Amino acid sequence: MFVRTVVLLGVGHTNAHILKEWARNPVPDCRLVCISRFPTATYSGMLPGTLAGQFSPDEMQIDLQKLVARAGATLILADVTSVDWNQRVLHFDNAESLKFDILSVGVGSRPAGLPEENGACLVPIKPMQTFPRRLDERLDVVAPKSGQLLKVVIVGGGVASIEIALCLQSKLRFHFPYSNIRIRILTSADEIVDELPGSSIRRVRLILQARGIEVVTQSRVTEVDDSGIVINGVDRQSADCVIWSTGAAAPPVLSRLALPVDSHGFLVTTPTLQSTIDPLVFAVGDSGSIPETPFPKAGVYAVRQSPVLWHNIKALLNGGPLLEFKPQSDFLKLLNTGDGRALLLYKSLTVHARWCWTLKTWIDRKFLRHFQV
Ligand SMILES: Cc1cc2nc3c(=O)[nH]c(=O)nc-3n(C[C@H](O)[C@H](O)[C@H](O)COP(=O)(O)OP(=O)(O)OC[C@H]3O[C@@H](n4cnc5c(N)ncnc54)[C@H](O)[C@@H]3O)c2cc1C
Repeated sequence: MFVRTVVLLGVGHTNAHILKEWARNPVPDCRLVCISRFPTATYSGMLPGTLAGQFSPDEMQIDLQKLVARAGATLILADVTSVDWNQRVLHFDNAESLKFDILSVGVGSRPAGLPEENGACLVPIKPMQTFPRRLDERLDVVAPKSGQLLKVVIVGGGVASIEIALCLQSKLRFHFPYSNIRIRILTSADEIVDELPGSSIRRVRLILQARGIEVVTQSRVTEVDDSGIVINGVDRQSADCVIWSTGAAAPPVLSRLALPVDSHGFLVTTPTLQSTIDPLVFAVGDSGSIPETPFPKAGVYAVRQSPVLWHNIKALLNGGPLLEFKPQSDFLKLLNTGDGRALLLYKSLTVHARWCWTLKTWIDRKFLRHFQV
């Protein structure tokens, strides 16, 4: 008979680690329940490479049924509709309500600024589980004939958009070798990847330029319909496929939890990753926000939170002091450029080489091996 219930809401970079640890070292008298909207979790680091045809789609997926079974846990495929905080019960759209003792929220983020009304050519990057299928469905509809032009727009000027643009180009050139492929990256900012040092930005721009990928700055896409986009509310331009890959915004489920949020709607936590009003609730990865030590929404930080979360869940269950998460100030970035190379960026160092792709693939595969049962 289980005395307590730990619930993982969303199985992403941080919460998946709890399943891994639980399989090796389950907490006595305690059951673990996972909630996901999909039976798989997608590893974003390998999504661009999958687009480029470097990996099979299965290689970037984590089978949650298997991962959960290995840990002796339970998987509920449903979406949370509300929480009764007096009873500590989660309610779902299509599953029985669930009482919990400890809750860890790790539902990630969604691309910011998605237009409310969207046309057939819009393909948001999330949910990532369905992105390759949705993209292929759109490309089937707009498949160019020999000599015809295919116009692709990528909205968002961050590192993910750069990788998607470069890797997608490889895919499109392979599938439509006799067509003209035009890829444009649109950003509302003054510059792409503007969080990086100037030397890195210049290197990224040179690579894009060499590959014929256009960058348009100060251009906010305000509308997407069936045949194209509207920029800055006035400038209508045709497009066949619009990939929405903007920065991180809070997913709607976070507001349904009725917990304290920051100005962007992410759950506010202490450095121990606990909600500021409920120490038995954690918020991790993109979903959480620590005002004392802000850091970018990136998988690297979500992964680094994993051991802290595992330690703190056990500390709450068994007693003992909690650990604080201390984010690193910078991290190594490896951008897949879709041509068998990757661009390594660290502080002001930039290297674009095959060995960087090998290193990136080794790191990604090593990480995923922990979760692919
Ligand atoms: C194309 C792309 C490439 C990227 N590459 C990198 C990179 O190389 N390095 C890096 O550091 N960062 C990268 N990022 C950012 C990185 O993906 C995120 O920062 C990271 O995934 C955050 O981890 P997480 O666990 O918070 O969320 P996620 O990994 O997104 O996991 C959240 C999970 O919760 C699920 N979920 C969502 N809503 C619900 C719900 N209502 N109920 C239940 N489950 C739900 C989701 O389906 C998902 O499986 C990339 C992002 C993109 C879009």
